[in-house]
Amino acid sequence: MSEAKEKKEKKEYQFQAEMSPLLNLITHSLYTHREIFLRELISNSSDALNKLHFLSLTDEKVLGDDGELKIDINLDEEKKTFSISDNGVGMTHDELISNIGTIASSGTGKFFDKLTGDKTKDLELIGQFGVGFYAVFMVAEEVTVDTRSYQEDQGYRWVSKGTGSYTIEPVDLPNRGTTISFSFKKEAEEFATKWRIESTIKKYSDFVAFPISLNNEKANKSTALWARSKDEIKEEEYNEFFKYIANSTEDPMSCLHLSVEAPVQFKSIMYIPKKPDRHLFSHDLDTRIHLYVKRIFIQNDCKELIPQWLRFVKGIVDSEDLDLNISREVTQKNVIMEKINKYLVRKLLGEFTDWSEKDIEKYNSFWADFGSFIKEGIHMDFANREKLIELYRCYSSFNPEKLTSLKDYVERMPADQEEIYYVYGKDKDSIENSPNIEYFRKNNLEVLYLYDEIDDFIMPSIGTYKEKQLVGIDKADLKLKEDKEKNENDKKQPAKSAKKKLLGYFKDIIGDRVEDVVESKRLVDSACTLVASKDGMNANMERMMKMMDENFQASKKVMEVNFDNLLIQNLSQIQQKFPQDQLLKDCIEQLYEGATLLDGTLESPSKFVPRSTGIMEKAAELYLKTLEEK
Ligand code: ADP
Repeated sequence: MSEAKEKKEKKEYQFQAEMSPLLNLITHSLYTHREIFLRELISNSSDALNKLHFLSLTDEKVLGDDGELKIDINLDEEKKTFSISDNGVGMTHDELISNIGTIASSGTGKFFDKLTGDKTKDLELIGQFGVGFYAVFMVAEEVTVDTRSYQEDQGYRWVSKGTGSYTIEPVDLPNRGTTISFSFKKEAEEFATKWRIESTIKKYSDFVAFPISLNNEKANKSTALWARSKDEIKEEEYNEFFKYIANSTEDPMSCLHLSVEAPVQFKSIMYIPKKPDRHLFSHDLDTRIHLYVKRIFIQNDCKELIPQWLRFVKGIVDSEDLDLNISREVTQKNVIMEKINKYLVRKLLGEFTDWSEKDIEKYNSFWADFGSFIKEGIHMDFANREKLIELYRCYSSFNPEKLTSLKDYVERMPADQEEIYYVYGKDKDSIENSPNIEYFRKNNLEVLYLYDEIDDFIMPSIGTYKEKQLVGIDKADLKLKEDKEKNENDKKQPAKSAKKKLLGYFKDIIGDRVEDVVESKRLVDSACTLVASKDGMNANMERMMKMMDENFQASKKVMEVNFDNLLIQNLSQIQQKFPQDQLLKDCIEQLYEGATLLDGTLESPSKFVPRSTGIMEKAAELYLKTLEEK
């Protein structure tokens, strides 16, 4: 038979041999994932429409008088028949054979390579992959494909039961495109309701770029918002889409619409919500980025598209480069996904940085709500650490009411300052009343005020910024400059030997409750303070450790004593003259416990309060005498 004649008659063809087991598996064993047949058919139609649209860009004639590209689905609930039509590129006789008669040209090929022969595993695979056109045999006994290529006037009908063979015959078709029709088989009659088809369309194909109608009613939003050009999209449309994907009643704070050609081709809409969801603070929660491939919905909450710390971002990614049949396991190690991920992070960081430079108010409000995620990023995301550190904000003694960046801090630093100083406290007052800050206040050294316990971990994790080390001011080994004024004061200070003696007595009394007692360089007014030893944790960190582990043993503190302080000077004199005096002992105890009280580590006030009353009694008695002498 000549080729021309062959195409004019009905003829039976055999499926490629390798296809039989697959078709068999699909038709007879698959019960749980039947609804994906619709996703696959719509996706094929949408591809065919995309191809035609692409051709029409260079040759308008291909559209003819059928320029409104669309997908029509018809369902007869009574007769339980279904059809889906598109006016896309259609198929020629040869294309019918090579596209849906052989495996190599269809996405099913890759799936086929993976089949193991183990039924349970293979079924799982089908669930993950989707099986392209053949998925239709999950719901249909016999399938008819009527198709006419945009290149020809002749149409063809392909019919098969999906078992071994199919027939092709010429038919007259008035229009370009493809119609696939069938009756639902008994086991799949649940799909023969409008409601079921409608909700399946909504689930998988709501944002297919082309309009889909079901029994002549519009069934999808048909606006793949991300596929449209930015300047024709209204803000309300972006907001609506956000509410739809984020399940939110509020508008987003900000939106980023990307259309990327290289290094990978994808489109994306990313939203920053106004406030984080409460549950986002727990770590095991999924991201809210949905993955589409060529406008067909693939997967909810695709973790691979965005790093954990950016899990507050919501949106979609639509890739042109991924395979529609991509499985969950493939998304995990996929290079394209990785590239998209990197690109999104770069863009989002760029956006945040932009606000921080150009719209400080917006950035500060973002920081208030999402700062903890940035901090998590600093801790986890090594590749982007530097940019993230630039985004870090906290308050400082320079202006306790205003957030500052590390960059601004460093710019304000005097040339000879070698370190960046910070301190944690529960609020501004407790920081400003802490003895540890006195030296810095007196010497005009700026100190960062940290109110968030996490910051105490972040600072050591940042370590150094612009070659300046970040140092907690409650550490023992601060590199403090000698104070000139202090040297002048030295005259009033006890002699070296007396200082040594008093410090020794402090040690005797406080004993191993502290690591050491030393002369302070940092105190200006206060008599003494407790600081973390060189290798120890600061008070805040210890409190957190104790919360996590009740057996946690805090490291011992170093007690610093200020010889400029009048009380200390007097105590030294008492010691010189009456080494065994009780008041001296009480004062030392009181000073130590007072310091632990400020530090938040005083275990019990049971001795502190009566001792303090005792000292006040003595003071009042003396005071009365001086009043009477006047
Ligand atoms: P895939 O879509 O992954 O390539 P399928 O098995 O779903 O695999 O489809 C095989 C091929 O059949 C498609 O690549 C396409 O060339 C052709 N095809 C399927 N449906 C249509 C359609 N509605 N219009 C035009 N061609 C189609």
